[in-house]
Amino acid sequence: MRVRASCPARLVCLTLAAVACSSSSSSSHAPDASTAHDGATSHVDARTPPHDAGHDSSDTGPETSSDAASDAGPAPPASVTFPSSFLWGSATAGFQVEKGDDATDWAAWVAMSGKIQNGDNPDVAGPDALGHITQDVQDLVSTGQTAYRFSLEWARLYPTLADFTADTPDATAVAAYSTLLTALVAAHITPVVTLDHYTLPAYLEDVTQPAQPQGWENAQTTTLFVEFCARVAKRWGGQVDYWITLNEPLPYAVGGYLQGSFPPGLVLNVDRTIAVIKALALAHTQAYDAIHAADTVDADGDGKAALVSIAKHQRTFHPMDPTNAADVTATAHVEYLWNQWFFNVIVLGNWDDDFDGNYTGPNDKMNDPTLKGRADFLGINYYSDTLIGAASGIVIPAPVNASIEQAHLPTGRPESDVGWDIYAEGLGTVVDEARTLWPLPILITENGIADHTDQNRPRFLLDHLFQLGWAMQRGANVIGYLHWASIDNFEWASGFCPKYGLFSFDPTTEVRTPKASAMEYATIIAARKVTLAQLNAAAQYETTTAMCQ
Ligand code: BGC
Repeated sequence: MRVRASCPARLVCLTLAAVACSSSSSSSHAPDASTAHDGATSHVDARTPPHDAGHDSSDTGPETSSDAASDAGPAPPASVTFPSSFLWGSATAGFQVEKGDDATDWAAWVAMSGKIQNGDNPDVAGPDALGHITQDVQDLVSTGQTAYRFSLEWARLYPTLADFTADTPDATAVAAYSTLLTALVAAHITPVVTLDHYTLPAYLEDVTQPAQPQGWENAQTTTLFVEFCARVAKRWGGQVDYWITLNEPLPYAVGGYLQGSFPPGLVLNVDRTIAVIKALALAHTQAYDAIHAADTVDADGDGKAALVSIAKHQRTFHPMDPTNAADVTATAHVEYLWNQWFFNVIVLGNWDDDFDGNYTGPNDKMNDPTLKGRADFLGINYYSDTLIGAASGIVIPAPVNASIEQAHLPTGRPESDVGWDIYAEGLGTVVDEARTLWPLPILITENGIADHTDQNRPRFLLDHLFQLGWAMQRGANVIGYLHWASIDNFEWASGFCPKYGLFSFDPTTEVRTPKASAMEYATIIAARKVTLAQLNAAAQYETTTAMCQ
């Protein structure tokens, strides 16, 4: 596996896919799109990325993703518009913006030496979102946002197993989340509530004992999570219709069990990684049913009491060498595993037990009624592209037999502060794929850029929203866009280094300040429109050094 040192370790996230690729087969057994993907076409773009290597954007005027897209296909529209019902918002997650989530596995992880860049600690320098509810909701309002995604911290609500068993949630935590939801609803901001965003209560995951079965490997975690979802949905169902059970199951499992950058910190434990992914898929299907049973109140008057999904991290993939058949085949299989496997389970009821890309194995299932139909919309997080090789660079030996590079299309594209290519076309690609494979409404649950100067974020917003609007013109039913993040926050193993927020905050005073990008976002929201002319007039991307690990 070839990994640039600047890549955030947790996001060397495709190892698992490569593992499965090679364990199921060598790349020569890669799936046949006509059968392996349930009859759907593979959406790997195995072409050379739209910009040629060495492309100098300065010689052709501003580099826009629409230029790139036009290289590869139809000319872009002059403008894209969004319906009045479109949800415009931003997102955070509890542990990343709250302080005092001491009863989580992540708090124990942060306390361990060497786990977090610069030794950062969210309790010491975080934005303390629950202490600034009025201000933060006002900031959403002032920028015209109409939706806000945040997560409820399970361990804040139930700090001990005894609390959970007795169903005696922490009164302060209940009051805080109730205050937030009441403020959002009063401001006509649609809450999108995540029930598990990477963290677990420490009583379900002991980071000091990584050799022991952990967290989602234990059936008890699923049982308690389903119960947690039911309780929360019952308590707040009158204010919430949009529920996200799990954030990014694949990065979660890979970070914790392959890369070692998330709790419990295992490295290259393939079997346990796969076990966790399967457990998360099954946990979601059960939580889906529990939420629908518990939330019977239609909060927004659209006739639906609960709309349940996950937030799924989708990427685009390119072969390291597009002329190398093995790289192309490996790329197609990785794309299937990373982008499709999970949605195939919860939308179509197709369970590919051996991750081999077809449904002919002894434990495979298709159209299974206990799994299918467990998503009311597709929550999609999109950030960047990944290069896949069958055998280039440093290859992880069997059963991996693949090399993965997180980003760095051979195009001279600008990169974010975490070294990811800015690749707006990819948002259109993953939305096209979703529309084709799983015919459900799409909510972009995250999309953003690590950009400490905020130089690139305004253009990033225009560029990605242009691509999104264009994908909608091609037929995608996209109901909203939530930018990551509302405010700078604790970025897991990278600590506070990557700055993703539309708002910054002073770590001492916690005073919030809107960035230029927040103003740009407000302008786009007010117009419900992005034009090519706007894109061409926007400041060029600046390549930053990948300063955050
Ligand atoms: C995660 C967020 C994270 C963001 C930027 C997403 O994959 O869901 O929690 O902050 O990436 O790193």
